[in-house]
Amino acid sequence: MNAVKPIKTVDDLLQAGLATPDDRAMLDEVAARYAIALTPVMARLIDRADPDDPIARQFVPDPAELTVVTGERADPIGDHAHSPVEGIVHRYPDRVLLKAVHICPVYCRFCFRREMVGPQGLGTLDAAAMQAAFDYIADHQKIWEVILTGGDPLVLSPRRLRDIMEALAAIAHVKIVRFHTRVPVVDPEKIDAALIAALKASGKTVYVALHANHPRELTREARAACARLVDAGIAMISQSVLLKGVNDDPDVLAELMKAFVEIRVKPYYLHHPDLAPGTGHFRLTIDEGQRIVAALRGRISGLCQPAYILDIPGGHGKAVIGESVIRATGDGCYSVSDYRGGEHSYPPAG
Ligand code: SF4
Repeated sequence: MNAVKPIKTVDDLLQAGLATPDDRAMLDEVAARYAIALTPVMARLIDRADPDDPIARQFVPDPAELTVVTGERADPIGDHAHSPVEGIVHRYPDRVLLKAVHICPVYCRFCFRREMVGPQGLGTLDAAAMQAAFDYIADHQKIWEVILTGGDPLVLSPRRLRDIMEALAAIAHVKIVRFHTRVPVVDPEKIDAALIAALKASGKTVYVALHANHPRELTREARAACARLVDAGIAMISQSVLLKGVNDDPDVLAELMKAFVEIRVKPYYLHHPDLAPGTGHFRLTIDEGQRIVAALRGRISGLCQPAYILDIPGGHGKAVIGESVIRATGDGCYSVSDYRGGEHSYPPAG
């Protein structure tokens, strides 16, 4: 059954054939805690005959979400600890997050901000809060980059986006505006001329960080949406989450990263899943993650390699956590491993 309208409720999931009536009680319980949404594009991409479909796993609620394991927390990357005014997260001196909206076109079951996003989440900043956020950015000369995230900022109308970009245009020390979004994949038709013109309204350099986790998400329509952005002069990078049952396989990840490069989206971050409540069924161990990421070395071009990233719980920022390939052996010498596992001295002996 093909969904033609957005899926937002348990009834919608049942009607779209993405759950059975036997799941109803569980779905109601999950829906009471965490938002549900799939766009028609994502719903159509799901193979109903595959119980392990990697697209369904990302968006269709699972009873495992009701289990909260030790260490999981409502604010896993410590946004609140670094929020000086509503909507701003200022963790590093040269950049801020601007969370203008807490709505998304899809709700990922592993979302790190799942306690903040959704219709019952933190909402959209009103005019006064937006002005206070712009004032904060204007008052902090070291802010070089503004990262619009959320929620998904590209759910905003072109008019709202243009207002944001025109406000940022007036702040000379802001040079880069970055959008983190899933829209080019989950609702590619939204990437139209009006939206692109709005993104460019600041005259600043604009980056779009595309969130996708499985190569099947990069449909012909998604690729065309990315092409419209890149052709308009907007640089694109990728971000993915390493997810058990979705992309925890070097072959799948290699295909995803190569597909990004083919559509001019530079692979950027591969996140280890954050400690969001009810997401333990998606998390690998860091050892497992390091082995998968190490297997990409030598398998795909350097252009395709993402950095494997852990957001340190508590708001301490990001750390690159790929396996180290070099160790000091003393006297300024090192042992470095090649992609086949061979060990070599640096500098070479003799
Ligand atoms: S699109 Fe991003 S913010 Fe929205 S639910 Fe998915 S991971 Fe969370």
